[in-house]
Amino acid sequence: LSTPFRLEVPAPVVEEMTARAKAALPNECCGLLAGYIERQRDAAPVGRVVRSYALTNAAASPVEYLSEPREMFEAIRDMRRRGTDILAVYHSHPDADPVPSRNDLDRNYSTDVVNIIISLKDGAPRLEAWWLWDAGYRPADWRTVEN
Ligand SMILES: [Zn+2]
Repeated sequence: LSTPFRLEVPAPVVEEMTARAKAALPNECCGLLAGYIERQRDAAPVGRVVRSYALTNAAASPVEYLSEPREMFEAIRDMRRRGTDILAVYHSHPDADPVPSRNDLDRNYSTDVVNIIISLKDGAPRLEAWWLWDAGYRPADWRTVEN
């Protein structure tokens, strides 16, 4: 399997995701990260996040999430207007490790976007990023960048 892109997330966006995860307790939070993919001469393409979209968890549950369809539609439309693409989806696990659940695999938005999971199980937030498909998942290459 080739890596579609390496994800770079600005530090303020990481802070926003963890803040939203805490604010949504006891339920899961969810959202989207948008940006653009930069082709590299000698390395994997880089996905640079430039904007985040907070979505309502329509499931309002501590063990699953369902992106509110209308907000999802509006976010995608805004991305299109700005010439950006969806690079990642994120959600939180209030009481579980930051690894995909069976539900997460079944409801995966796309095999071409990174799945970020924020775990609050151990108090201090733990973020992990994954590529998901129907039968499994593997770690995604990502890092936090300044500004
Ligand atoms: Zn999950």
